[in-house]
Amino acid sequence: MPLLEGSVGVEDLVLLESLVEESLLKNLQLRYENKEIYTYIGNVVISVNPYQQLPIYGPEYIAKYQDYTFYELKPHIYALANVAYQSLRDRDRDQCILITGESGSGKTEASKLVMSYVAAVCGKGEQVNSVKEQLLQSNPVLEAFGNAKTIRNNNSSRFGKYMDIEFDFKGSPLGGVITNYLLEKSRVVKQLKGERNFHIFYQLLAGADAQLLKALKLERDTTGYAYLNQEASRVDGMDDASSFSAVQSAMAVIGFSEEEIRQVLEVTAVVLKLGNVMVADEFQANGIPASGICDGREVQEIGEMVGLSSEELERALCSRTMETAKEKVVTALNVMQAQYARDALAKNIYSRLFNWIVNRINESIKVGIGEKKKVMGVLDIYGFEILEDNSFEQFVINYCNEKLQQVFIEMTLKEEQEEYKREGIPWTKVDYFDNGIICNLIEHNQRGILAMLDEECLRPGVVSDSTFLAKLNQLFSNCFRICHYAGKIRAQAQAEGNTGGTWGKGQVLGQGCGVTYNVTSFIDKNNDLLFRDLSQAMWKAQHPLIRSLFPEGNPKQASLKRPPTAGAQFKSSVAILMKNLYSKNPNYIRCIKPNEHQQRGQFSSDLVATQAQYLGLLENVRVRRAGYAHRQGYGPFLERYRLLSRSTWPRWNGGDREGVEKILGELSISSGELAFGKTKIFIRSPKTLFYLEEQRRLRL
Ligand code: ADP
Ligand code: MG
Repeated sequence: MPLLEGSVGVEDLVLLESLVEESLLKNLQLRYENKEIYTYIGNVVISVNPYQQLPIYGPEYIAKYQDYTFYELKPHIYALANVAYQSLRDRDRDQCILITGESGSGKTEASKLVMSYVAAVCGKGEQVNSVKEQLLQSNPVLEAFGNAKTIRNNNSSRFGKYMDIEFDFKGSPLGGVITNYLLEKSRVVKQLKGERNFHIFYQLLAGADAQLLKALKLERDTTGYAYLNQEASRVDGMDDASSFSAVQSAMAVIGFSEEEIRQVLEVTAVVLKLGNVMVADEFQANGIPASGICDGREVQEIGEMVGLSSEELERALCSRTMETAKEKVVTALNVMQAQYARDALAKNIYSRLFNWIVNRINESIKVGIGEKKKVMGVLDIYGFEILEDNSFEQFVINYCNEKLQQVFIEMTLKEEQEEYKREGIPWTKVDYFDNGIICNLIEHNQRGILAMLDEECLRPGVVSDSTFLAKLNQLFSNCFRICHYAGKIRAQAQAEGNTGGTWGKGQVLGQGCGVTYNVTSFIDKNNDLLFRDLSQAMWKAQHPLIRSLFPEGNPKQASLKRPPTAGAQFKSSVAILMKNLYSKNPNYIRCIKPNEHQQRGQFSSDLVATQAQYLGLLENVRVRRAGYAHRQGYGPFLERYRLLSRSTWPRWNGGDREGVEKILGELSISSGELAFGKTKIFIRSPKTLFYLEEQRRLRL
């Protein structure tokens, strides 16, 4: 088959001779070494990060994939995007594209490939083009504010993103909605060795002209800023200055006014400057240690920028007002507390700014309520994180992945089985590990870990991380350790020497496997409270954007009801996401990182093995193999392949199913390859499909 020429290994893991982990890895490796980074498992695309620009993208390739069906060309994200888009446009089925994988595996690049493919094939015209531009330009803006250099990825997304792209009945884009999850705001004030703060800070310092810098009261030199890690201010291959102008023009394309852009930059500058506010011990009249601002200049400048007197700002940073029903008591903060307050403020301003930017983009790209639309959702979200020290962030991220795995299990595996049932086709049962039990452990309304954490956060009296742990221990006489489906597999694989195989129904909390979470700061991070003095000060600021970021600072609105905890918020946004995903037809891109060094050509089998395990690839292949790789309604199938049989070509007067039987009978395809369902024909292996396609092409 000419179009498949040059392919190495098998293009679909379903076709592997022997289904063991070793052959699966070998196949991926062989292909990777030949720059074949994409491989299928049925309709799932596995993508191994090439860490180099391959000549397989762009208009020419897009045009090619647009003209062929899924299995006709080499595996590619374009093929998946094409199927999804066509099914949306022609069959009116909303789609979602779920992209998972660990940090640096290529998720964000994959999501951009999907978007650019869809943008290239979906409708034309000035109006449509401007919508497309807005949608595409949201990427550089969100990346500037939400991405950072980490040890694993120079351009690592530090937030999860789900984007619905909405189309009209003809399949032309109308607009979209972006939802963001959990920006890693701790990065604003502190970064690991070798990592950076969010790109925008460096872009601003490198790219702003002298006049802008002056207006923002900034110095160009990054070394002057306490919030910027000094040893990693530059990133290879990244030009901060030119990115800065790209970001500004992207914002303009999306529809940010000049004034809005300026305000965003001002707020960004304020965050940076907050890091330089130094607090030190001072003493109150009565000899009690208290904090004070050492050098008034920075506070003065910040005050000028946000329109707040420096006294007021200093008071908010260095003291705390306790309100009881009867009176207000102002206490001085000690240095540690004041630093904590300053950092909390910086993190809050920045993460709220980020949310504001997302909302602002949404405002520009939103679709009128009345318009009937078709939707394609693209999810680019952090994969499982199992670090040495796992904290609240890993806990919620892994919870989210647990839920996504549940979607995967339920939608792919169950739906597969159910379709067979519907179609009356016999099914050999494939066991799989239902991780519902783990999801429940975390999210159960009363007994779930998140609920217990909330209870601890809301409980009056002395609460701490250890009272939370004690509470967990009461229930689970063990340390706080969860056997996530991924952790379980990883641990099991290590113990068994990477044999893979089926998933164990392991204990939910157990010894020697799973992910151990350190409860330190769980309470604090879940509470996510900002001292009221700070929010009230920010609300008093003249700066319209800053002010709008802190509505709870309005004393008239300040209710005693506390805002939902971080965990509760995350849980509800995950629930909304899941509901959204369940309403759509899923398409999967599973991204794999081939090595830890961001190096081209290097394939570390161990590293890939672990990822293959927790992506459930082997399991995925098993299910596919147990069943049929391809299926199609009798009508469309007959239409496509009628020309292969003299009985059905040029005319056929019988029923669709009989026609299909005629064609396949004449081609003498073995009966084991086929199953005739109630409404669809099922074909076991892609090989048979290739054969049909080839025959068809020969006759065209
Ligand atoms: P993730 O979002 O999973 O953390 P990214 O999508 O940011 O990972 O990819 C990390 C880096 O890997 C990118 O910045 C890019 O350099 C490289 N990369 C990823 N996918 C591709 C690709 N298809 N072609 C070339 N380089 C890629
Ligand atoms: Mg990313």
